[in-house]
Amino acid sequence: MAKRDYYEILGIAKNASDPEIKKAYRKMAIKFHPDKNPGDSTAEDKFKEAAEAYEVLSDGNKRARYDRFGHEGVRGAASGGGFGGSGMSMDDIFSQFGDIFGGHFGGGGGFGGGQARQRRGSNLRIKVKLDLKDIANGVKKKLKVQKLVMAAGVEFTTCSSCRGMGQVTRIANTFLGQMQTTATCPTCGGSGQSVGKVPKGADANGMVSKEEVIEIEIPAGVEEGMQLNVRGKGNDAPGGGQAGDLIVLIEESQHDELLRNGQDLHYELYISVPDAALGCKSEVPLVDGKARITIPEGTQSGKLVRLKGKGLPSVNSYGQGDLIVHINVWTPKKLSKEEKKILNDLNESENFKPNPSTSDRSFFERMGDIFQSSN
Ligand SMILES: [Zn+2]
Repeated sequence: MAKRDYYEILGIAKNASDPEIKKAYRKMAIKFHPDKNPGDSTAEDKFKEAAEAYEVLSDGNKRARYDRFGHEGVRGAASGGGFGGSGMSMDDIFSQFGDIFGGHFGGGGGFGGGQARQRRGSNLRIKVKLDLKDIANGVKKKLKVQKLVMAAGVEFTTCSSCRGMGQVTRIANTFLGQMQTTATCPTCGGSGQSVGKVPKGADANGMVSKEEVIEIEIPAGVEEGMQLNVRGKGNDAPGGGQAGDLIVLIEESQHDELLRNGQDLHYELYISVPDAALGCKSEVPLVDGKARITIPEGTQSGKLVRLKGKGLPSVNSYGQGDLIVHINVWTPKKLSKEEKKILNDLNESENFKPNPSTSDRSFFERMGDIFQSSN
């Protein structure tokens, strides 16, 4: 693609003054700033293009060469050859012209503003195994964790970077004039203190490992692989910043009889041939207790019975899953002579000849049910 004219990119005349160039660039930079256009690669390209144009036109020598020789005249001259080919990287732009955004976008240190990050303690991870009952109802758990805490007897000195203020102030030259920006002190993380003498057994930050019991509440409906973030229950921050998080990884133990599929539970129920033909009452296990279901006479093997709301709650608290009972008619594997005779006699009857009607659930209907429940 042909490179666009730098004056055209910034929308200015060939004889534009330096302040005009600056003003035009600032307008473009703010319009196409990545913070304002997250994920928009066209905006990013325009942002880079404007930065490149500004770098050349804001420099008297480069501008003169560009005016005379065009793009060839400044190729390789800018950014140590960074121009011309792939253009400038975002990091280049922020490190070179970052102060243009100073105060306006929260500093020029890079994407998302350049504010010093508050020093935090590191996160702790722990696995918790839950059964279906815990998952169905939610549960409070007392967890034993080894966490880093500040040792007793650590001596602190005043942070020399911020002189104990916890904040550092920078003066940045911007188009809006001199802007004063205040950020958390990167040295002490805002506490205003540095670690001086540490007691025996503590690390350089004055931390020791200690066992602690943390009680957490696990909401109903969680599932294998989910992570819960418990804010501020991780390792303490060196020097007294904010503690890290405790990250709880959920593991799920298999139920003996119920199989979980999302919010639904599945159960395989076996009934005898006579029960299927005559109808019967049967018991099915629930997460908590049992339910009685009635099998009507003439029930086919493979029929599904859906017990609404007897599944699991959603962790987002929208609705409740079902318990789906899969009915299997148990065919005896061995028969006595007498039983064989009875069955042979029954086989003579018209009633025992398969004769499925449309009112019997079809294979496809059943499949639909299964697909539905596996969402
Ligand atoms: Zn400090």
